Amino acid sequence: MDEAAAQSTYSVRAWGRRFGRQVIDFLAPPKCLVCHDAVLEPASLCLSCWANLKLIDAPVCNVLGIPFAYDQGEGAISPAALAEPPTWDRARAAVAYDEASRRIVHALKYRDTMEAGLLMARLMARAGQPLIGEADVIIPVPLHRFRLWGRRFNQAAFLSQQISRQFGKAYRSDVLKRNRATRSQVGLSSDERRKNVAKVFQVMPEAVGHIAGRRVLLVDDVLTTGATAGSCAAVMKKSGAAHVDVLTFALVLEPKRPHIG
Ligand SMILES: [Zn+2]
Repeated sequence: MDEAAAQSTYSVRAWGRRFGRQVIDFLAPPKCLVCHDAVLEPASLCLSCWANLKLIDAPVCNVLGIPFAYDQGEGAISPAALAEPPTWDRARAAVAYDEASRRIVHALKYRDTMEAGLLMARLMARAGQPLIGEADVIIPVPLHRFRLWGRRFNQAAFLSQQISRQFGKAYRSDVLKRNRATRSQVGLSSDERRKNVAKVFQVMPEAVGHIAGRRVLLVDDVLTTGATAGSCAAVMKKSGAAHVDVLTFALVLEPKRPHIG
């Protein structure tokens, strides 16, 4: 077979593969990202999984983003934020972290399901609209250097890119760097833990100009203890960031914190 014939055989095969994939997409309708039941649109949930998802709506603590049981006025701050003020300015999350939202987070993190990321970004855009609107630059929390299982997929970077594209904001993944953890957190007091995690992140010296005097929006998938986002915010403020907000898909609500329901 000459080269031209081989080329055309190849392109017919490639076309066949593409066509085959379209047929499969047509025959296999989109599935709910949580329970895998059939749904009408890709990147969505079935009605009962939507009902299970606990969206975080106003009123919320202006600093921690935790829901208030009743409206306490614009900019109200929770006792938890007053007792232990974080290094960031404002945090917002789309949903409470629970079994339903955990499955969506894992779909993006470990199964590389981009549809889950699209849904997460959509809900984050809804929850964080004012913060996104006021941001000069969107920065993801850097990936763990050592991932024990799964592929090296930076879900925070994917979410940041989606949101920056949707709102026409600058996106930079070269500002923060995650170094190797200096020592295990086991057996450390909360103060020691904070100091330990503080050394994990650094602002790249050549990227200081992208955050100095600017409003930064830091993006991650889940806000758990706030130690990671807190140390990212701290190093960026030390490098001259004027303001640091945090936007995550899910927020772990501790039982001691007040919330609706
Ligand atoms: Zn479902």
